[in-house]
Amino acid sequence: MPTLQSSPLATPPPQPPMERRVFANRTLNLRGIKAVGCDMDYTLIHYRHDLWEKLAYQHVVRRMAEAGWPVDGLAFDPEFATRGLIVDLELGNLVKASRFGYVTRACHGMHMLSHEEQRARYSRVLVDLSEPRWVFLNTLFSLSEACLYAQLVERLDAGAIKQTMGYRQLYEAVRSSVNVAHMEGALKAEIMRDPDTFVVPDPELPLALLDLKHSGKVLMLITNSEWSYTRAMMSYAFDRYLPAGSTWRDLFDTVVVEARKPGFFTEAYPILEVVDDEGLLRPCTGKLAAGGVYFGGNARVIEAHLGLTGEEILYIGDHLYADVHVTKDVLRWRTALVVRELEEELAALCDFADKQTKLTQCMNQKTELEHKQSVLRLSLQRAETGYAKAIEAGSASAIKGQLHELRATLLELDQRVIELAREAGQLGNRRWGLLLRAGNDKSRMARQLERYADIYMSRVSNLLYYTPFAYLRAPAGVLPHDRV
Ligand code: IMP
Ligand code: MG
Repeated sequence: MPTLQSSPLATPPPQPPMERRVFANRTLNLRGIKAVGCDMDYTLIHYRHDLWEKLAYQHVVRRMAEAGWPVDGLAFDPEFATRGLIVDLELGNLVKASRFGYVTRACHGMHMLSHEEQRARYSRVLVDLSEPRWVFLNTLFSLSEACLYAQLVERLDAGAIKQTMGYRQLYEAVRSSVNVAHMEGALKAEIMRDPDTFVVPDPELPLALLDLKHSGKVLMLITNSEWSYTRAMMSYAFDRYLPAGSTWRDLFDTVVVEARKPGFFTEAYPILEVVDDEGLLRPCTGKLAAGGVYFGGNARVIEAHLGLTGEEILYIGDHLYADVHVTKDVLRWRTALVVRELEEELAALCDFADKQTKLTQCMNQKTELEHKQSVLRLSLQRAETGYAKAIEAGSASAIKGQLHELRATLLELDQRVIELAREAGQLGNRRWGLLLRAGNDKSRMARQLERYADIYMSRVSNLLYYTPFAYLRAPAGVLPHDRV
């Protein structure tokens, strides 16, 4: 069999660079995995999401303009939103929440709420994603929708939208237009015509999949995309990097298109066979054929075909709900989430490392000084009332003098902390900060990631560094009382 040219990763170093690591929330022994299912869009194929979303946005805006919506002059801002933010349909806001559901940042229209505005609206509110008030942005495909919604919230507030409607109905109108843009074909036809512009190729990925396949694992492609789109994009992204004479089809035992995830994992949708390149369908009777292409179907059919159950199947995807949440909840498959944003974020954190050290030092100093301040206050209280011996010796006026000096030192220190903390809060995205952080805490997205993804990584090809035989260990969970 022809072999691949040697790859730059042919002899990987013992520890890959931070941004190419695989991180484990729960220990996963790859040797125990017998089948690997892969999502396609933003998992095996990464797009320049600024351009993909800009094009999607333009299609949606054109459609809404035709329907009489006041969308003139609007333009897509790729920096406006990030994955993991949450739309508040009651107030027409976009919010970031901590893992416990506390809102840590919010914007109305395109404008960030001030601290006071945010407190007024959210100090008594906890984000609970099971409530219909909230919509979680699960994928990079959500960015155009979030931007257009926020822009139209401003137009709704300004009375520019003739129809009487609230924030929820406005969201539904945008959602429905985005949905149609994805389904109708014109948008994807443009992507297929010019993949060089939209796709970020990963020459290492085919080898990572070949390693998995030749280690005895069955590979499957399970995508919500249509057959014509899947065929064009997979061929573009894979064929030129595979050994001569083989194509992307040789990698996969089973290909499922229009899988309708998350329903694919929870429902009993019927499965059809795709019989030619034009996408002709016929009923699928009997067993699935190796190398076959199927339309629809469901996870139980796949399990029966493989003769495997949850623990032996790993599914890799980018959509927090459709790819990993239900897969884990309902089927207990092992799950991996692709978080491409991590690469830029880890690089930004690396650049910020010196300042982070300074910030930590300042915070340690602040903690010490604040304790000193508390002790002095208590000493003053005792010295003035005489009910107990003061902790710090000295007259009340001497203690007051010390307190005065301390307050000035703390104010100076706070200025430094505020500046460094503001900079730290702008890493990743200037408005929203890092994807998996909310202030000092983990973000709501981090919570979803921890709960539903056994492992996560910036791209599937990071597995190259680990081999198909790796034992991916989760670090011990840390609690506040643990010694760090
Ligand atoms: P996957 O990630 O490989 O499962 O494919 C995702 C597919 O879902 C792509 O074909 C997207 O165009 C499509 N998609 C993304 N968002 C929407 C939507 O809102 N409505 C319909 N299809 C969508
Ligand atoms: Mg995807």
